Amino acid sequence: MRMARTAVLGLPRVGPDRELKPALESYWAGKTGSDELAQTARALRAATWRRASAAGIDVLPVGDFSLYDHVLDTAWALGALPERFGDVGAKGLDGYFALARGTAGAPPLEMTKWFDTNYHYLVPELRPGQELRLRADHWTGPLRESAELGLAARPVVLGPLSFLLLSKGLERPLDALDAFVPVYRQLLRELAAAGATEVQIDEPCLALDRRPDELDAFAGAWTELAGATDLGLCLATYFVGLDDGTTLERVLSLPMHEVHLDLVRAPGQLAPALELLRDRDTRLSLGVVDGRNVWITDHDRAIEQIDAASSALGDERITIAPSCSLLHLPYEAARETGIAAEVRGWLAFTAERLAELTVLREAAGARGERRDELFAPARAAIAARRASTHTNDAAVRDRAAALTAGDYERARAYPARHEAQRARVELPELPTTTIGSYPQTDDIRAARRALRGGELDQGAYDRFMESRIAEAISVQERLGLDVLVHGEAERNDMVEYFGEQLAGFAFSAHGWVQSYGSRCVKPPILFGDVSRPAPMTVGWWRHAQSLTERPVKGMLTGPVTILQWSFVRDDRPRRETCTQIALALQDEVLDLERAGAFAIQVDEAALREGLPLRESEREEYVRWAVDCFRLTVAPVRDDTQIHTHMCYSEFGDMMEHIVRLDADVLSIEASRSGMEVLDAFPGKLEYPNEIGPGVYDIHSPRVPSADEIERLLELAEARVGRERLWVNPDCGLKTRGWTEAVAALENMMEATRRRRAEHSADSR
Ligand code: GLN
Ligand code: ZN
Repeated sequence: MRMARTAVLGLPRVGPDRELKPALESYWAGKTGSDELAQTARALRAATWRRASAAGIDVLPVGDFSLYDHVLDTAWALGALPERFGDVGAKGLDGYFALARGTAGAPPLEMTKWFDTNYHYLVPELRPGQELRLRADHWTGPLRESAELGLAARPVVLGPLSFLLLSKGLERPLDALDAFVPVYRQLLRELAAAGATEVQIDEPCLALDRRPDELDAFAGAWTELAGATDLGLCLATYFVGLDDGTTLERVLSLPMHEVHLDLVRAPGQLAPALELLRDRDTRLSLGVVDGRNVWITDHDRAIEQIDAASSALGDERITIAPSCSLLHLPYEAARETGIAAEVRGWLAFTAERLAELTVLREAAGARGERRDELFAPARAAIAARRASTHTNDAAVRDRAAALTAGDYERARAYPARHEAQRARVELPELPTTTIGSYPQTDDIRAARRALRGGELDQGAYDRFMESRIAEAISVQERLGLDVLVHGEAERNDMVEYFGEQLAGFAFSAHGWVQSYGSRCVKPPILFGDVSRPAPMTVGWWRHAQSLTERPVKGMLTGPVTILQWSFVRDDRPRRETCTQIALALQDEVLDLERAGAFAIQVDEAALREGLPLRESEREEYVRWAVDCFRLTVAPVRDDTQIHTHMCYSEFGDMMEHIVRLDADVLSIEASRSGMEVLDAFPGKLEYPNEIGPGVYDIHSPRVPSADEIERLLELAEARVGRERLWVNPDCGLKTRGWTEAVAALENMMEATRRRRAEHSADSR
């Protein structure tokens, strides 16, 4: 019997120690040349292939590596470039980076999240009738490199349907398939000429609630591509299943060498797929190990899927693979020495995933005792995880089990709370505030490093942070802001800061995952039941409040955002874990209130991005996500003012859920759309409580004038009325310098004073 093969759809790019980051940054700074950057990139690719090949992977990816982003790579290779950069295609590497990072004259391509991951891609900008020009060296160069290493590799190409659907600028993007397919065909010819025998064509958009006419368009394009080449076309789908309506049937009836299905996210599609493929010769690539999360694979579950496929199709027709590209995982769990050995034993990053694939391939051809031998370590780890006291904290479980509907409700409705809050603290009309963070200056980062490195002791560190907090308070008093913040100097990151103090979280030392370009994040690993052993922010808040008569807002990251930006345990439902986080944060909210905080802000930056990819699953998610926010703040007194903040403005059909958060004050991003966002909720979808639409964009160092801010305030007043209006920037100021932050806030205060005066003049 022939053996199954193993494959990966894509591998991490930044290097085990983020080697790509300094290489890029020093090139951008003009300190090194393009040759050095190319060399680093080449070395990273070679090392990656060697590791995967040594681990026993049969099909290695090529062209998945990127100097910035793979969607940008595709736009670049197809010549689908915006006009505002001039003849950017002729400018080589600098042209490529200009699209990603902008130039003095042209803003960069917009960046947005890659499906439901925390990776960001650059949104290609298309225009009708655009001329395309192929440049295949993104694949052909690395193909030659892999050949020189004696390794065969399969090019990874983002397919035309997904490329077009992920772009902007065309009203009916799929109408452009006719123009794009010939360029893709030429690409296939060049890949074949460069020695490829198969091509992986990624079409993640195929599974996302596609209409029949869109499926027709895809089928037409695919058939044309398949007819024009001898290469084996391998269609890769991931993150959701194709088992929606007739999609699976339609797609599997197309001529293809192999189809890849994500069986971690969508195991239900295996059985129908096997039925459909039984009498065809298409291979099936089984995405059985998780490319999106860090837990050791349940080998018994995976082998069940493999066995089913093998008995329907035969081993020689199956490929064993991760569910999606491994781009979203860190490199190697075995390197982590800081994570308790118990927890580390439950983890699988990229290196461990590769090993799992070869174990599963061997097991596919084995039975009985040999299987037991192969699976023993994973079984032991999973059993230990299941039985651990960390994953089963009875007190946490009991507390969540005892919740009733009343635990999600504040005592009284907003109007009564508003009265009570006004009686407790008198705020002027158009109250002013900021979103939380003040500039994270070099000395603050240096102090954090020194604490970690042991050069600074905890006492000295605390005193230093207190001095930064005092500075932020005195600046805000001078500016005349009404509700102050402590400035978040002590926080490295809005999720990590809380994760580090909550039970149930672990932190890796090397667990970097690319976010975009040279930016990487190290997501916390949420492995157990969550609780809060001790107050997390109360000391800093108390210090800040002791320095001023004005109210200082308590500042917390919300449960959904903490959940969303972590690797979350997969042995319990996300909803249950989020409820545990909400209860832990509720303890903090109540401690802040007891300490005297009048206003407490709970940030939910990631509420919208948690939306499931499939339309049909969204309602349920938003319901429990909003419930978790409500649970976090429900027990506070009427006269405690709850704020929340969201870093975006396109709420679309989510507005009713935002209303249901029932925060007393909601601050959102609004300046970039010129307050247009406020039109998105006219009539009954208006936010009924107080609202602070951001009056300037904090993402750029540009200082907006008082006139400009005043105009935005006028627009906001016209839309929501001034009784409920707050004045604040779009987001926190941590990425800004002090000079520009203060200058912008001065103008914000000046604009506010003018609007207030305007009103007193009116009412006289
Ligand atoms: N309170 C946080 C800050 O000001 C909020 C950041 C965010 O929403 N991303 O930095
Ligand atoms: Zn924000």
